[in-house]
Amino acid sequence: PARTRFAPSPTGFLHLGSLRTALYNYLLARATGGQFLLRLEDTDQKRLVPGAEDNIYDTLNWLGIKVDEGPTVGGPYGPYRQSDRSEIYTRYIDELLDKGLAYRCFCSKSRLDGLRDSARLLRPPTTVSYDRHCLRVYTREESDAKAARGEEFTVRFKSPDKYPEFDDLLHGYINWQPQVNPFDRRYEDPVLLKSDGLPTYHFANVVDDHLMEITHVIRGEEWLASTPKHIALYDAFEWKKPKFVHIPLLTTIDNRKLSKRTGDIDIMSLKNQGYLPEALINFAVLFGWAPKRVQGEKLHEIYDMDFLENHFNLEGLTVGNAKVDFQKLNYFNKHYLQRRLEDPDYLDKFSADIYGKLNQNRRITQDYVKKVLLKTGSSLTTLNSVFSESFRFYFERPTYTKEGLENVLEPEKVGIVELLAEQSDYTDLEAIIPKILAVYPFIKKKDIYQTIRYAISAGQPGTKLPDMIELLGNEEVVARLNSLKE
Ligand code: GLU
Repeated sequence: PARTRFAPSPTGFLHLGSLRTALYNYLLARATGGQFLLRLEDTDQKRLVPGAEDNIYDTLNWLGIKVDEGPTVGGPYGPYRQSDRSEIYTRYIDELLDKGLAYRCFCSKSRLDGLRDSARLLRPPTTVSYDRHCLRVYTREESDAKAARGEEFTVRFKSPDKYPEFDDLLHGYINWQPQVNPFDRRYEDPVLLKSDGLPTYHFANVVDDHLMEITHVIRGEEWLASTPKHIALYDAFEWKKPKFVHIPLLTTIDNRKLSKRTGDIDIMSLKNQGYLPEALINFAVLFGWAPKRVQGEKLHEIYDMDFLENHFNLEGLTVGNAKVDFQKLNYFNKHYLQRRLEDPDYLDKFSADIYGKLNQNRRITQDYVKKVLLKTGSSLTTLNSVFSESFRFYFERPTYTKEGLENVLEPEKVGIVELLAEQSDYTDLEAIIPKILAVYPFIKKKDIYQTIRYAISAGQPGTKLPDMIELLGNEEVVARLNSLKE
């Protein structure tokens, strides 16, 4: 059984990328009969965004990603919010200090800035900039005394001369070494504890994954470069390491990095646009994963949570960048919306909901809304589509324009509209045609139908004309033809 975790920082709302990370971790835990943890990584107090923490809880909840242990549900390895775990981190910092594997750094910001600038000017340049000044000049006693006097410090990791190699379950063997300048020895020595007394991401993340007995770390590829540091920390503590799985970055279909600008929207705004959780789960799980095909089974892409909770596995992960194609989301949403509408209870609830949001008029009843949904449900893309141009005409008269009508009918034939408006029975569409042809023998049948469609819906395609007429009712169709005439 795998113990996995989703460890977001509440620095923004939950987006598609984080949804996929959360989902893979959740599914691996479910599929192996393990536990899924939620841990809030909120030690960078400057970057906290108001509302982000609640957004994380609400989004996971709405998606049906159930947390076994976490800030809101508790659990035996808590607390699960890093800002509540300060004492724990201090204890482990002390352990490293005692082992001589970490040291306090009292250097001023301006000294550190100077070191960084000079490192960049070296040939070859290096981003590894600390010169271990504080490790060289202060004994442990002097360092303790300075700290006791209240001098400000950070704690740095005494990084190994050679970073450990490791295997990523997806990327294979990784041997990553910092780019040092051989003529001017500098060290990476990452900060573990900041001057505000809170740990950095690297330190808290490793300590917590160890203490919470995480077996698999599934996270975005952007963290791959940090992993050697993390492994070095596990080695420093002589802890067993979890397995690491770095999943590919999300890109747009034309291979640009997925960002706010290129369409990465937060999940709750997708919800507000009328997308369903089932569709988002199905959409996101395919960003870098596919189940093994069962022989003889037809190729398809529909995987619901129930299937995934039983069949997710790490073997199905892919290394290449994962493309996010929003057309697919529409496709999935359409599929799952239809599935929902097949459930009479859901249909009732949804009809009531839409009915409540409509401008009420005498013609429209909740039952009428339900009938419209039954007939047209298969062409709805999102829950909000009901209120889009292509459906509104069921609930209110469309607005006609001269150009719109001329699009379906040549201007000199506008007289046909008058003739159509004089007809009183549209329930038998076929019977209308000869009456028009008797007066306008050269008009095409198709144009007559187009004109009626225009009167009904201002030209919205999709539903069949007789179905539209049946739903709206003869009286309303005649009324619309009359108002088009004017
Ligand atoms: N707090 C990190 C984030 O926001 C977690 C990275 C990890 O999973 O280790 O993505």
